[in-house]
Amino acid sequence: MRFCSHCSAPVQLVRPQGDDRERFVCTSCEIVHYVNPKIVVGSVCTLGDRLLLCRRAIEPRVGFWTIPAGWLENGETAEEGAMREAREEACADIAIEGLIAVYSIPRIEQVQILFRARLLSADVAAGPESQEVRLVEWDEIPWGQLAFPTVGWVLRRALELRGQQHWPATFNPEPA
Ligand code: ZN
Repeated sequence: MRFCSHCSAPVQLVRPQGDDRERFVCTSCEIVHYVNPKIVVGSVCTLGDRLLLCRRAIEPRVGFWTIPAGWLENGETAEEGAMREAREEACADIAIEGLIAVYSIPRIEQVQILFRARLLSADVAAGPESQEVRLVEWDEIPWGQLAFPTVGWVLRRALELRGQQHWPATFNPEPA
């Protein structure tokens, strides 16, 4: 960050009084610009014994497979965001059934909140951000062509819990 989004004056990296780390502080209006992780919301959507996957049409990782997921918007709950992403990326209507994972990825300044969801119908189609969408069997997951590590993490977790009533939420897996 170089300039204040409030008054356009330059900002300076300083440690505000009483704070324990450096922040971008405006040299004119003195507003402290906090920079915090962004939130990604998404869902593992199933219909019977099939699972919804989307092939990305946008960077990063064009052509690789993912679950419907994206940035949470201001003004919506995490569940609403996950439902919106399923609609945008796969034209899919879903019912959120529970939390499956919260993954923290400090390196890329993200927290991912991922749900388990039920597809309300098999009527799915590629939205503008997807090249194609598919309902795949669990043994058809393209493990070598997943877009992001967290997609692999959450799908392995879902695979473990498949068929069980209760899906306790999980956090970052132990590094391999
Ligand atoms: Zn300012």
